Amino acid sequence: MLDKEVTVIGAGLAGISAALTLQGAGRSVRVIESSDRVGGRVASDVIDGFTLDRGFQLINSQYPELKRLKVMDEVDFIAAPRAVEVSLDQDRIVLGDPRTHPLSALSSKTGSLSSKVNFLRYLYSHSNSALSVEDELQKLGDLYQRVLRPFLTGVFLTSPAHVSAVNGKEIIRSFISGKPGIPAQGVGALATALAKRITNIELGRNINSLSELAGPVIVATDVTTAAQLLDMTSVPKLAASTTWYHEVPTELTSSKCMVIDGQKRGPVVNSIAISNLAPTYAPAGKVLLSSTTVDFASESEVRRHLALIWGAQSSEWSLIAKYEIPKSLPIFAPGAQGVTSAKVATNIYVAGDYRSAPSQNGALLSGRLAAEELLFDERS
Ligand SMILES: Cc1cc2nc3c(=O)[nH]c(=O)nc-3n(C[C@H](O)[C@H](O)[C@H](O)COP(=O)(O)OP(=O)(O)OC[C@H]3O[C@@H](n4cnc5c(N)ncnc54)[C@H](O)[C@@H]3O)c2cc1C
Repeated sequence: MLDKEVTVIGAGLAGISAALTLQGAGRSVRVIESSDRVGGRVASDVIDGFTLDRGFQLINSQYPELKRLKVMDEVDFIAAPRAVEVSLDQDRIVLGDPRTHPLSALSSKTGSLSSKVNFLRYLYSHSNSALSVEDELQKLGDLYQRVLRPFLTGVFLTSPAHVSAVNGKEIIRSFISGKPGIPAQGVGALATALAKRITNIELGRNINSLSELAGPVIVATDVTTAAQLLDMTSVPKLAASTTWYHEVPTELTSSKCMVIDGQKRGPVVNSIAISNLAPTYAPAGKVLLSSTTVDFASESEVRRHLALIWGAQSSEWSLIAKYEIPKSLPIFAPGAQGVTSAKVATNIYVAGDYRSAPSQNGALLSGRLAAEELLFDERS
């Protein structure tokens, strides 16, 4: 039994982490991935010299699983400012971490000072798993409506009203205490750096049934594929999102901050001149704007909203690409049961962000835990 090769299905972060854990324990492992590249949802394309992440995302270099894997030195990591800009009427008001932007909390346009202090208290308080993030935060008034609600919609890719207060707070804390940013070559560089450590990866093979495989298996696919392979009866709801990439005039902004709309004047939940943060994301002299929507929106609605957010004409901006990601993130709804064992049948284990948290860290953790459980079962 111990000699049998373990098959990991899926080379997203969960599968990569599972494979590295098994390899580290001296087990023979092969990873089978249906697409032509590793990384799953953490992938980047290069089109006409622009680096386009397949869905705007930031990597928190302080995630415990990333620290454990000691990978951040292998990607050219660029830290993002610890602040957001809130677009209100014709202005954009900076609100940042009090340690780096101490005066920014004083603007009453982004909520009262007392609501900002209460938000810090909230971070260290106990949350009720029956409630949603919105249930716990809406008492913060303008701070919630103008800043936290739009910001968190971009994080959860759904309304904070749909997300469990407990799971949501974990993610919020990791953003606040972390160091988010992007690799100079796109977020896909993270997955590529990790996957280089795996000795046996087969790309371009889709597993349709576990009967194709012998020996122990870790199913590290997205949740709907896992449900098909394993006859799972219930799956969490999934949040969809679209990332829009526009080339914009250089004079639009020199800001590296993410901008959110404090007045919900349209479908965009966040927008960032991503090549101001990482100049490698655009050819010299060009600026790439990355904007996210979570509800269905036409390009003209997106342009109209971006014009309001940025206070500029957007009709001449050229659309470089648009990524529609129907299965962006699992939604951890209020009252959702905590997950226990990764083992679903003899020799079959599951991993994926839907098992722990809707984040890169959640995916990596779930992969490691599934592999550790498999190793433990084999020894006992
Ligand atoms: C738009 C967007 C923004 C995000 N923002 C952030 C963020 O800012 N911070 C953060 O921490 N996280 C963020 N995330 C979440 C994070 O990217 C995911 O939680 C994580 O990448 C999920 O990894 P996974 O391995 O669980 O799943 P996936 O990445 O979905 O990997 C599953 C893999 O299995 C493969 N596969 C599927 N079916 C089969 C099959 N039958 N046979 C073989 N292979 C198969 C797939 O091709 C894929 O490679 C974001 C995600 C999206 C989409």
